[in-house]
Amino acid sequence: MSYADFRFETGEDGIAVVTWDMPDRSMNVFTMEVMDELEAIVERVAGDPDIRGAVIASGKDAFSGGADITMIHRLFHAYRAKAAGDPDGARRELLAESSRMSRLFRRLETCGKPFVAAIHGVSMGGATELALAAHARVLSDDRATRIGLPEVKIGIFPGAGGTQRVMRMADPQAGLQMLLKGETLDPGRALAMGLADRVVPRAGLLEAARAMIAAGLDPVKPWDAKGYRPKGAANPFSPAGFQVWPAANALYRKETFDNYPAARALLQSVFEGLQLPMDLALRVESRYFAHVLQTKEAEAMIRSLFVSLQALNKGARRPASVPKSEPRRVGIIGAGFMGAGIAHATAQAGIEVVLLDRDRATAEKGKAHSADLLDKAVRRGRATASEKDATLARIAASADYADLAGCDLVVEAVFEDRAVKAEVMRQAAPHLGAGTVFASNTSTLPITSLAAGAGRPADFIGIHFFSPVDRMMLVEVILGRETGARALATAMDYVRAIRKTPIVVNDSRGFYANRCVMAYLLEGHLMLTEGVPAAMIENAGRMAGMPVGPLALNDEVALDLAWKILQAAKADLGPAAIDPAQERLLEELVVRRERLGRKNGRGFYDYDGREKRLWPGLAEIVAPRSGDAFPIGELKRRLLATQALEAARTFEEGVVTDPREADVGSILGFGFAPFTGGTLSYIDGIGAAAFVDMCDALADRFGERFRPNPLLRGMAASGETFYGRFAPAV
Ligand code: NAD
Repeated sequence: MSYADFRFETGEDGIAVVTWDMPDRSMNVFTMEVMDELEAIVERVAGDPDIRGAVIASGKDAFSGGADITMIHRLFHAYRAKAAGDPDGARRELLAESSRMSRLFRRLETCGKPFVAAIHGVSMGGATELALAAHARVLSDDRATRIGLPEVKIGIFPGAGGTQRVMRMADPQAGLQMLLKGETLDPGRALAMGLADRVVPRAGLLEAARAMIAAGLDPVKPWDAKGYRPKGAANPFSPAGFQVWPAANALYRKETFDNYPAARALLQSVFEGLQLPMDLALRVESRYFAHVLQTKEAEAMIRSLFVSLQALNKGARRPASVPKSEPRRVGIIGAGFMGAGIAHATAQAGIEVVLLDRDRATAEKGKAHSADLLDKAVRRGRATASEKDATLARIAASADYADLAGCDLVVEAVFEDRAVKAEVMRQAAPHLGAGTVFASNTSTLPITSLAAGAGRPADFIGIHFFSPVDRMMLVEVILGRETGARALATAMDYVRAIRKTPIVVNDSRGFYANRCVMAYLLEGHLMLTEGVPAAMIENAGRMAGMPVGPLALNDEVALDLAWKILQAAKADLGPAAIDPAQERLLEELVVRRERLGRKNGRGFYDYDGREKRLWPGLAEIVAPRSGDAFPIGELKRRLLATQALEAARTFEEGVVTDPREADVGSILGFGFAPFTGGTLSYIDGIGAAAFVDMCDALADRFGERFRPNPLLRGMAASGETFYGRFAPAV
C-alpha cells in the first residue's frame, strides 16, 4: 500500500518508519488527505502482527507547520453556510469535524503499538499534538528544532489533545504558561519539561527512535494505566493544586482582561479535563474547541494573524510583473537610532551593508549597536560566536559616499529635516547605479515631495520602519505619486529578505500607522484634561486590549516628538487642525517643565531605575476627578474607536487600500487590540451601523473627532463590511 504524503518502510526489526513528506510543498501540513492517510497508517500498524511499532519522521527540513489554512477555512465556511438555516445541525457538524484530529491521535495513542515521533526542525500546532499523542518523542539537538503550540496567538487553542497531554506530562505551572502564551520550546526546554524523552544529534535521530521501540517501549500511556491519578498540582483539589489554580485564574485575567475567549476556554478545558479520565477529558476539550471556533475573535484573529499575514509575507501586494530580486548590498545613510537598527536587521539576513554617517566614528557607533544585540543573542544561545562575527563582518561603517557603489538599494535614516535629507541624496546620487532604488525612512515628510528633490522619482520610495527595529515586524512601504513598479518590487523583496511584513500605503501625512497611534495618544491626553485619573486612563487602554496605555506609549515615543508633530500640523494645516487642550497640556509638559518622556527619565511617568511610576505632579496640571465619574467601558470604547475611525479615514482617502494591510498593520505596527483582528475587523465585528451609532454618540459628548466619515455612513446604510465590500482578490 502506498500513500501520497507519507513513505512507509518496515525494517527487518519489524519497526515501521513513516516519513511524512508531502509532494509539491516545502512544509508538511495537516490536510484532509493527510488525516485520511494517517488514519490508514495507524490501522495498518495496529493490525499487522509483523509490525512492532512505528517511528514518525519528516522528509523535509522541518517536522511540520501544523494545520493547513484551507482546512481551517473549510471549517469556518461550512459552519457559517449552515448556521443560518440550521444552527444546531451546524454546531453538531462543526464539533464532529473539528474533533476529528483529536480522535485520530487518540486512536494512535491507544492502538496497542508504540509510536515514536522523531522531530528535527520546527513542529507546530497539530504536529506537536501528534507528537504528544505518540508514546515517546526524540528531538534533534539542532538549533532549528523547536516544538510549540502557538494556537492561542491566533485566537484558538490546541484542540487535538494538546491541552490534556501537556498538563499530564509537564509540571502544571510550566504547562499552563506554555499553553496560555503559545510558547515554543527548544529541545533542552522540552526535555526539562518532560515533553521530550531524548535529545540526540540529527544524524542519530531515527536510530534513537527505533531503539526506544526495540527496547520495548510501553504502548500504554500512564494516564491509561489502571489506577492513574494526576499528581501534584495536576490534581486541582490537592494542596499543590490550591497553590496553582486560583493563581492561574488571576494570571489569566491580568494578562488578557478576559478579552480572549480561546485563552479562557483553554483554562476551562484543562481545569475540567484534569478531573476526568482521558477519553472524557478529550471530549471536553473538543467541545470547548468547537465553541471557540464559533467566536468572532477566532475568526478575526485567524484571518488577520494567520491567513492575511502569510499572504502579505508572500508578497500579495508585490507587482507580479517585475521579476523577483534579491538584495545583495544595501546602503544605509544615517547610523543613528533607526539606521543602526536597520543595518543590523539587514546584515542578519545575510545582506552586505554600507553604514554611512557624517564621520567614521559615528558610523562605527551605529555598527556597535549590532555588536551589542549579537552579544546578547550569543549569551542567550540564539547565535554562535562565529555567526556574530559573520554578521558584523557584513557591516562596513563608512563616511565615504563612494562606498555606496554597487548597492541595489539605499535607505536614508538621517535627521528628520528636509534640507539634511536633500543634501544626503545630492551627495549619494553620483555613486548610485542606474538601477539603484533610493528609499527614505522618514516618518512625517511626504514621499512625493522628497522624491522631487531626488532626481529619479520613479526609483524613490518610502520604507518606514518602526522602533525598535529588531523587535517591530511591520514596515510601511510608501508610494510617492511617481514611484515605479520596480522600486516597489525592490522594496518589498528587501523587506521580505529581512523577514519583516510589508504593507503598501499611499503618501499622506503620518502615513497609516502613526495616524492611528496619534489618535490614541490624543485621546489619552484629552481624557487627562477632562480629569480622568491617569492610572484609570492607562488601565482602560490595557483593558481595551492595547499593549500599553496611551500615556506610557507617549513616553516611549517622546513627548517632544508629539509636540513637534502638533506644531508642524498647526503650521501646515492651520490652528483648526489641532486640539487646543492637547496643545496646552503638551506645552506645559514639554516646554515649561522639560518632561520629554522616557528618554530624559521624566514624562507622564517618572523613570527611576527599573521602576516607573505615574508622575504625581500631573495633578498640578489638571486636577483629577473621582474615577467614579467615568464609566470604564466608555473609556475603553473611546480608545479603540478613535483608532479604528482614523483607520477608516485612511481607507477612504486611499492611503490604505486593502483591509488586510490595515488590520495586520495595526496589530504589528502599534499593537491594536489583537483579539479584534485589527482596526477594520474591529468595525466589521461590531457592524458598521452599530459602530456609526456609537461614534455619533461619542461625538455628541466628546467632540467632532468621533464623527464618522462618509464611507462608514454609507457602509452603515447598506449593511456592508470592509471585507465584504473591499474583499481582496485572493
Ligand atoms: P537619529 O538622530 O538617532 O539619527 C540620525 C543620524 O543621521 C545620526 O547618526 C546623524 O549623525 C546622521 N546624520 C545627520 N545628518 C547626516 C548627514 N548629512 N550625512 C550622514 N549622516 C547624517 O534619528 P533617528 O531617530 O534614527 O531617525 C532617523 C530617521 O528615521 C528620521 O527621518 C526619523 O523621522 C525616522 N524614523 C524615526 C523613528 C523613531 O522612532 N526614532 C521611527 C521611524 C522613522
